[in-house]
Amino acid sequence: IVDPNPPAKLMDRRSKSIGPSLSISYAEKLKVVRGEGPWLIDHTGRKYLDAVNNITHVGHCHPKVVEAIARQAAVLNTNTRYLNDLMLDFSDRLTAKLPGDLKVAYFVNSGTEANELALRIARTAIGKKSTVVLDWAYHGNSGGMVDISPYKFKRKGGYPQPDFVEIAEFPDPYRGPHKGMSEASGRAYAADVARCLDAVEAKTGSGAAAFIAESISGVGGQVVYPDGYLKAAYDHVRARGGVCIADEVQCGFGRVGSTFWGFELQGVVPDIVVMGKPIGNGHPLGAVVATPELAACFANGMEYFNSFGGNPVSMAVGLAVLDIIDGEGLQAKALETGDYMLARFEEMADRHPLVGDVRGRGLFSGIELVRDRTTREPATEEAGRIVNHIRQQGVLASTDGPLDNVLKFKPPMVFGRAEADILITALEAALAEVGA
Ligand code: PMP
Repeated sequence: IVDPNPPAKLMDRRSKSIGPSLSISYAEKLKVVRGEGPWLIDHTGRKYLDAVNNITHVGHCHPKVVEAIARQAAVLNTNTRYLNDLMLDFSDRLTAKLPGDLKVAYFVNSGTEANELALRIARTAIGKKSTVVLDWAYHGNSGGMVDISPYKFKRKGGYPQPDFVEIAEFPDPYRGPHKGMSEASGRAYAADVARCLDAVEAKTGSGAAAFIAESISGVGGQVVYPDGYLKAAYDHVRARGGVCIADEVQCGFGRVGSTFWGFELQGVVPDIVVMGKPIGNGHPLGAVVATPELAACFANGMEYFNSFGGNPVSMAVGLAVLDIIDGEGLQAKALETGDYMLARFEEMADRHPLVGDVRGRGLFSGIELVRDRTTREPATEEAGRIVNHIRQQGVLASTDGPLDNVLKFKPPMVFGRAEADILITALEAALAEVGA
């Protein structure tokens, strides 16, 4: 059967009716028509292994998620101004996964909205707007989130740093000024958070309302922070009365393998946790979980209403996703497959000089490519060629990081050894050709 709407024709239509700032992956465009587990199927019936989509956490089109959507949509979907069991069931299940006093949930429709709300809560509680962010961070697509995302406002098309934002040094143990994963390195990077707090204090007379950071950096290039970094950073922020927000939009829900949340790798308990992407497996859902104390401060008389956030269909989806993560042992699987992948990537470093650094935890990993291991000159163009090479072999990945030279891997959590081997075989071939 000849597809009446092949990729070239769709690209032509897109150019007329879709905003050009919305980008699309790969030099050779891909039209996907179906998904199943870790697989995506294109318009010709060719299967591609998805090694990068961290949104479809429990696998594309998981039958239990599909069933939950259909079942609940056929019964009731309304806004949250009525009592409904599902929202309470989901908030109980979700907060049971969190440590400490993280007990009060708010439901929204995206990671952006969740970060917006987290900041509103912190800023209302502290009574000011000043925010400390990490360099190269991305927290969402709204105006408010671009303001706190150096990844956006510092780059092409951006604008000057807002006066209520301070940028702390990105704690990259490979490329930053403090090398290695030691606690000394973690403390040295955290000292820059203290410098930001000093700057806020000089401007406003007191510390920041909030410090927001991903627990492992995604767009920063799959960067695992040195030991003790978040602990020392949180100590500085709290000593001046600020709120610590963990953005778990990419790394939460068992992906890092040894723990359910990314922040647990760093031995900290945030004041607010932000969730998105995997929480709904592709259904638009996000969440904020805060302490009762912060939630009480936020209830200052101004109502918080969200037309779609917390609707019964979304809550049914969230419950199904948690059931699947637990029922299918996906956190343990992420650890096992992830450790295997990292070990195999390390072996690749022995054979391929392009591999400068291998890093990650569980099914959240990256390979930083360099032209020279001593100077660490980034192999940006080579990284792009490798992504296109493996795509031609039927494996989907992409690049990230400030220099766009990091191959990133965050596949659906149903990725097992068999799938990891397919990815590794493709990568070996690509590295051999591109690195030759
Ligand atoms: N935080 C992080 C760390 C993200 O990676 C993203 C999305 N890439 C967001 C927030 C925003 O989430 P959404 O696209 O669902 O609004």
